Amino acid sequence: MPPSSDPLPDLRNFSRQQLTDWVTSLGQPAFRAKQIFTWLYRPGIIDFSQMTNLSKDLRGKLHDLALLTDLAIETSELSQDGTKKYAFALADDAIIESVLIPDGKRRTLCISSQVGCAMGCAFCLTATMGFKRNLTPAEIVGQVRAVQSDLGEEQRINNIVYMGMGEPLANLDNVITSLDILGDELGLAYSAKRITMSTCGLAPQINKLAGKVKVNLAVSLHAANDIIRDQLMPVNKKYPIAELLTACQEFPLDKRQKITFEYILLAGINDGVEDARALAKLLRPLSCKINLLPCNEAPEIPFRKPKEATVLAFQDILKWAGYTVLIRSSRGDDISAACGQLAAKKKS
Ligand code: SF4
Repeated sequence: MPPSSDPLPDLRNFSRQQLTDWVTSLGQPAFRAKQIFTWLYRPGIIDFSQMTNLSKDLRGKLHDLALLTDLAIETSELSQDGTKKYAFALADDAIIESVLIPDGKRRTLCISSQVGCAMGCAFCLTATMGFKRNLTPAEIVGQVRAVQSDLGEEQRINNIVYMGMGEPLANLDNVITSLDILGDELGLAYSAKRITMSTCGLAPQINKLAGKVKVNLAVSLHAANDIIRDQLMPVNKKYPIAELLTACQEFPLDKRQKITFEYILLAGINDGVEDARALAKLLRPLSCKINLLPCNEAPEIPFRKPKEATVLAFQDILKWAGYTVLIRSSRGDDISAACGQLAAKKKS
């Protein structure tokens, strides 16, 4: 939760069940919570006075006992390829970023779950910020609400990916509440199929997530052995590859659902033929697909992008092994919105 001297609860931090518990604790009937929750996720509601089916008395009570926060877009930048990066100013002046990636009629929004990140992945600009704090459920869902309001209701965001700043599973309670709100038919009504949770490999949290909600899982693997992964991702020293893949194997999947493994290709580090073969062998027991991400170079990052021929050869080996393998072209790198490039510089 953000540092705050204000003890009043922000109602947009509550799932419908949590709101019901709070409303009934005030001596109000449970159906009032349903009415209030419905108002919270209608566009343009910024004040309790707009909740016109509540009595004046209750609206006054809510005004005295609770908050209704909103996320303000601080700036937005449009890339040549249509990708749009949004920066949001939070109540404590921290800045977070979200990235909208249009692809034909599909619109995918990549959202942040923390201010900065503590995971220290060697190829990631967000890691250079260090960890500031977890985002609240209201701040996580607020990114979707604010971007949707910027787009207008005709251009619905189709997919939401928790792949922005931060490690979502290190903020599991708030992330789960945000998923409850996003998936609630009276909230933003997103199907679980439209939501993807990314993780750098917090194995126990993958198990916890699986026990609570259904979403797609994307795992940042980036190496096929512990020696290389230890160097790239400090999390691997705590949860080595074998432990991570066991958690992935236990993650419940629907019939046609697959786990996505993300693999950043770093020239001379993890992009060799032997790496591709080892990866093919490693993932054999899993129902999965693979995304290859040629490194996005940045002055702060000591890695280079492999040659195109190296990337294609890597992909071919995995394809021959029977995997669905996509090479993810960098979107929005002219505005630092590409994968691993989010590092808000203004106030945080
Ligand atoms: S890649 Fe993800 S988990 Fe790793 S430091 Fe960057 S934001 Fe954190």
